[in-house]
Amino acid sequence: MRKVVEPVEDMIVLLSLHDITPANEDDIVRTYDLLTGLGIDSLTLLVTPFYGLKKTNCFVKGSFFSEFLLSLDLEISLHGYSHFAKSGVSYEFSNLTTEKMTARLKDGISLIKQGFAKRPVGFIPPMWESPHRLTKAVRDVGLD
Ligand SMILES: [Zn+2]
Repeated sequence: MRKVVEPVEDMIVLLSLHDITPANEDDIVRTYDLLTGLGIDSLTLLVTPFYGLKKTNCFVKGSFFSEFLLSLDLEISLHGYSHFAKSGVSYEFSNLTTEKMTARLKDGISLIKQGFAKRPVGFIPPMWESPHRLTKAVRDVGLD
């Protein structure tokens, strides 16, 4: 069994960049440049693979942006499927059944695999809103 919790030394900060989607490409590149300029080059990319349910926000393997992100050699984690519920709120998973949560997680993993040819390693829900049953669904699909 894989060890899920790994302690870090004091004074270590874990940094993640949220809402990685083609819609935010310019801001993501600018932020990465700012961070590397500060000497920060290790962070997690929180990818939302179907942001806003817009096909133009899906990652395409071989696209300039996908290849740029891959070239950074950073950890990729799933950050929701579309980030938004049908009602438009950002709490994508709050009112879903366990079956719909699991389906969205599996679809998100699949879209990331299509766009990057690699599987995400973890999951952070949009707005950090995580009903308890979402934690189990995340583990059931093999994410931390
Ligand atoms: Zn977000």
